[in-house]
Amino acid sequence: MTGTADRRCHACGARTETALARCDCGEPLWIETPATAVSEDWPDGPGPTGSMWRYADLLATDAPGGVGAAAGGTPLVRTPALDGDADGGRVRVKVEGANPTGTFKDRGTALGLAATEGPVGTVSHGNMALSVAATAAGADRPCVVLVPDDIPEGRLGQIAQFDPTLLRVAGDYGRLYERSLAVGADRDVAFLNSDVPLRMEGQKTLAYELCEAFAPEVPDAVVLPVSSGGNASAVWKGLRDLRAAGRIDRLPRLCLVQAAACAPIARAFEDGAERVRPLEGGEETVAYSIANADPPSGTRALAAVRATGGTVVAVDDDAIRSARRRFAAETGLGIEPASATTLAALDALGERGAVGAGDDVVLVATGTGFREAPPDPDATSPPDPVGIDDLDARIADLTGFRSG
Ligand SMILES: [Zn+2]
Repeated sequence: MTGTADRRCHACGARTETALARCDCGEPLWIETPATAVSEDWPDGPGPTGSMWRYADLLATDAPGGVGAAAGGTPLVRTPALDGDADGGRVRVKVEGANPTGTFKDRGTALGLAATEGPVGTVSHGNMALSVAATAAGADRPCVVLVPDDIPEGRLGQIAQFDPTLLRVAGDYGRLYERSLAVGADRDVAFLNSDVPLRMEGQKTLAYELCEAFAPEVPDAVVLPVSSGGNASAVWKGLRDLRAAGRIDRLPRLCLVQAAACAPIARAFEDGAERVRPLEGGEETVAYSIANADPPSGTRALAAVRATGGTVVAVDDDAIRSARRRFAAETGLGIEPASATTLAALDALGERGAVGAGDDVVLVATGTGFREAPPDPDATSPPDPVGIDDLDARIADLTGFRSG
């Protein structure tokens, strides 16, 4: 099973057979995919393309029950109306909003559930919380979702409808991310946080689908919004798998986009830094789902950009709003502001020579965005907040999960 496979560090090359999320050097680990597995287990012929489970043999696990079986296999839409923005490149949009809960997160969640047993969990204030809660509900698996204390009630209600154990946790969000992984390891709860190795394995199928769509070529540039750096890392991992197995002979330029109000990865790129440093107090942005001041896989995402000849740009909120309106009006795709950053970035990418005439350019529209729901008078009231240091005891109390 994928969950027990070797893990490797992208930065120092260290390898471990232990199911850790982090290397001793501090960088996130990913699961080693032998080139022979890609060669031998790549799907034959066109076959079914309705989900990521087209690659089940290669992923070494079968689909989970419920909506996780429908993750991935998303449409790639040609959008000539946007070609002018890409200096005459041919623009396509990968519509990740077509996933069961409306975002790319479902790929990683589905693989994470498929490769583990027992309770799952996550730390999220948005799309990933919905994805894990819904996918666990569909697979009849216990689920705990840790949300920040200040989460808007509307979002809390949407997550609660899938009936996870929901904990509002007060305190620093970055610390909560790391603490949940440690508590989860002790209590046998598989925390599917944004850059854990199992999530990377599922999300890399986005790269597999793109390369199949363009075979025997590859797109020239793939433009992705970036937050934790997890998805950019996963796409890079998928491309590396394919090149190591000889299925592609070059990598697309990975071009990452941040909201200017909170852009630690763009700043590190521009500074020529080797590591992404946390940003002191990032500002509010309309693209809140990618506002991450301390991205856990930021340095790995930076490495992905440099290894593929890509770039990182930051775009301001006015440009993001305008791009979102144009996306809807000119392509018919309603997307969340974070996804609209890809269109907003095209001008800058053209100026830097990252996209241009004759190029095949893919914008990854990562999600449809949180849908507003009317208040539900029968919904239970939100839970009281708990402190990070009480987390272990609260999870043990609430779920009866056994101690490791
Ligand atoms: Zn390392």
